[in-house]
This record gives sequence, C-alpha cells and structure tokens, in this order.
Amino acid sequence: MQADLVVVGAGLFGLTIAERAANELGLKVVVLDRRDHIGGNAYSEKDEATGIEVHRYGAHLFHTSNEKVWEYVNQFTGFTGYVHHVYTNHQGEVFPMPINLGTINQFLRSALSPAQARDWVREQAGELAGTNPTNLNDKGIQLIGRPLYEAFIKYYTGKQWQTDPKDLPASIISRLPVRYTYDNRYFNDTHEGLPVHGYTAWFERMITNPNIEVRLNTDFFDDSQEYSKSKVIGSIPVIYTGPVDRYFDYADGNLGWRTIDLKEEILDIEDFQGCSVMNYPDADVDFTRIIEFRHFHPERDYTKDATVIMREYSRFAGRDDEPYYPVNTAEDRETLLKYRERVKHESQILFGGRLGSYKYLDMHMAIGSALSMYENKVRPHFANGEALVSGGVDE
Ligand code: FAD
Ligand code: UDP
Repeated sequence: MQADLVVVGAGLFGLTIAERAANELGLKVVVLDRRDHIGGNAYSEKDEATGIEVHRYGAHLFHTSNEKVWEYVNQFTGFTGYVHHVYTNHQGEVFPMPINLGTINQFLRSALSPAQARDWVREQAGELAGTNPTNLNDKGIQLIGRPLYEAFIKYYTGKQWQTDPKDLPASIISRLPVRYTYDNRYFNDTHEGLPVHGYTAWFERMITNPNIEVRLNTDFFDDSQEYSKSKVIGSIPVIYTGPVDRYFDYADGNLGWRTIDLKEEILDIEDFQGCSVMNYPDADVDFTRIIEFRHFHPERDYTKDATVIMREYSRFAGRDDEPYYPVNTAEDRETLLKYRERVKHESQILFGGRLGSYKYLDMHMAIGSALSMYENKVRPHFANGEALVSGGVDE
C-alpha cells in the first residue's frame, strides 16, 4: 500500500492520528513501531501462566475530565468502575495516599479536624507557608509541611528521580492532590476506569479500518525498510512520536529521561498486598512501589491460586533504554528549546506525543493533544492543502 501519511509510533498519540486520518479523511496510513506490539507504553497482555492482565510498562489507570476525550475513547471500549486508591508503607506502617486527613491523623496519632490539620501543616511548612515555589522540594514542603514531606515524598522522589528535588519542577508533585477530608481517591477526574476487555482490545478497535497498516518491529531510522526517515521525509507527510533528540541524531545533546526496571514475580497465593499499588517511600527499600495486577479487575474471575506482582526500580535512561519520564531539569529545558528551533525548520513532519514533545503526558492528554493536532494541522493539510508545519515541538 502506498501511504498518504506515515505515523511513527503505535502509542496512543500515533493510533489516534491514524484512526482519525483513516476514518474521517479516508487516507491510507502506515503506522510504524519498532516494538512487537501496538499501544506504546500503555500496552497490556494476559500473563500466560495465570491469565491475569499485566501492564508491561508499569501500571496504567485511565482518568480524564476532558469530555471530548472521554467521548472519543468510549467509541472503542467501555470502562469498568475501577477507582484508583494507593497505599504507602512507611517504616512498616501502611498509610493512605495521596496525603489526606486520614494520612495526617494516622501519622500524628491524632484526631485533628480539617481546620486543625491545615493549621498544623502551615506551621510545619515554616517560611514556605503561603508561598508558590517552583521547585519540587519547596513545593512539597509548602503543600504538606516538613514531617510529611520527609516521610512520604523526599526519599520516594529521591529513588524515582535521583535528582536533587530542588532541581525538579514543582509540577511533578502538584500532580498529587492533598485533601483535608478522608477521601483517598488517587485522581480528581470526572471519569475514571479500566478498559473492560483490556488495553490491547481497546487499541485494536482503533485500527480496524483496512486503510491502516501497522508495521511492527520496524524502526523509522532503519534504512532497509520501505518507510525509513531517509526515504519518506519530503515525499510523504509524517507524524513522528519517537524521541525528538533521536530524530535530530542528538545534535544538541541528550534530553534526560528516567527509565524503570520492572521485576515481575508470580506468587502461588491469592493475594499479596490487598491493593493494586503499594508505595515504599523509605530510603532503605530500593524499589519505589509494588503493583499487584489482580486488584485492577475485581470484577474478573481470576485464579485464586496465583497472583502477579511487579516491583518498580527507577534509574537514568541511556540511549538504548526505554525512556519513561522526562527529567526536565533547567538544562533539559535549554536543550529542548534548541530542538524546538530545529523542529520549526522541518516541513512535512509534525512531532507529538510524550517522546516527541518531551512532556509527561497522561493517556488522556496524549489523546487530547493528538485530536488537536489532527484538527488544527492534519485535516487542514489534507482537506484544504494547508502547509504541514509545526509551530514547534509543543503541539
Ligand atoms: P508512547 O506510548 O511512548 O508511544 C510511542 C511509541 O513510539 C512507542 O511504542 C515506541 O516504540 C515508538 N517509537 C519510538 N521511536 C520509534 C522509531 N524510531 N521507530 C518506530 N517506532 C518508534 N498515563 C495515564 O493516563 N495513567 C497512568 O496511570 C499512567 N501510568 C504510567 C506509568 C508509567 C510507568 C509511564 C512511563 C507512563 C504512564 N502513563 C500513564 C503515561 C502513558 O504511558 C502515556 O500517556 C502514553 O504512553 C503516551 O502515548 P504516546 O503515544 O505519546 O507515547
Ligand atoms: N510521590 C512521592 N511519594 C509517593 C507518590 C508520589 O514522593 O508516595 C511523588 C514522586 O516525586 C512522583 C510524583 O509524586 O514522581 C508523582 O506521583 P505519581 O504517582 O503521579 O507518579 P507516577 O505514577 O507518574 O509514577
């Protein structure tokens, strides 16, 4: 098939563009992925031994307050009523996360009211109370005060990022709500749930149009394949969702990423920890959290003879590792600006997604951003002949 559009990366960003371009514009779309499966980091599969659905690249929970995205994804899958809750094991005692009145009162062995708890946190935040810090360390202390920051955030963040929290953006910690009620729901969004038949069934439904051809185990930079960078750039429009620094052959240096080593274990017991995610915020435990997959689907009739758990170990990513989280230090942001300049001078190609934009995007954000790119750039190009150029890497 001769492609009208080449999409590099079969993650949620790439699949959304491919789905829209094929179903709405009738384009022939070739999607390349160097992995042996679609879905990018949100991919999941049934563990062969136990039948339990395992998220291969770490736990993925779908949540959104964006009605347009919610409506879009519901065309391809229904969602279960799963509501995410996380617990954290600090010095052998289990507390609810994110920080809420229950966490505070358990930590202090107290029965503070919401107003008393706020006063206590303000006191413990000292000179940072009432300020609006831009780095993670100060933001954490301002939000929950020093004792809670040190117990639940400081060392967890140290393990997760191995970067001085003063050099990390406050946005990383602002992702977590702090609540002065006993509500310990992890997310604040209107909609939340897991795909009823699993992530892969959802993604397969996005690409049923015969005008979409997916080529797996195919690297865009491999010149021996038909739709390689050197063959298509300038002749077929491309949506690129791989790492932006890799596209330019690291001309301005590496952008910093964290990767995760996931160590899976199958235990011959029904239930290991009683919940899907248990965090380990102490310095003397070298992993950050343990995922137990059976708890994501209490509605399924999983075996009672076994359970699958995964420990997460975080470290810096080398060029051959899977990039997971953009580190985003000031130096990274400077490097990113240089790549954004380069992107502006490319034509017939748009950069998007987590890797292409060097942004931590949740799934709903990746989909929302792909829908915007489709509406603002891809459709105008194919329907009205408008030029296909990025304003930058930040679409
Ligand atoms: P990706 O999923 O990374 O897809 C990019 C694809 O491009 C990959 O498949 C890659 O193989 C391919 N590719 C790269 N380079 C090339 C090349 N040269 N040639 C061919 N193919 C290439 N989001 C949530 O909403 N909820 C969560 O609970 C959640 N948990 C997460 C947990 C972890 C540990 C991580 C890392 C992320 C989590 N996310 C979560 C975020 C979610 O994974 C992303 O939003 C989503 O993966 C973004 O999709 P994407 O298409 O931009 O990128
Ligand atoms: N975090 C922490 N302790 C926890 C949970 C989170 O310090 O128990 C911090 C940590 O810096 C992490 C950030 O909050 O990177 C965002 O947490 P989230 O659970 O959203 O991380 P993710 O699931 O994306 O790894």
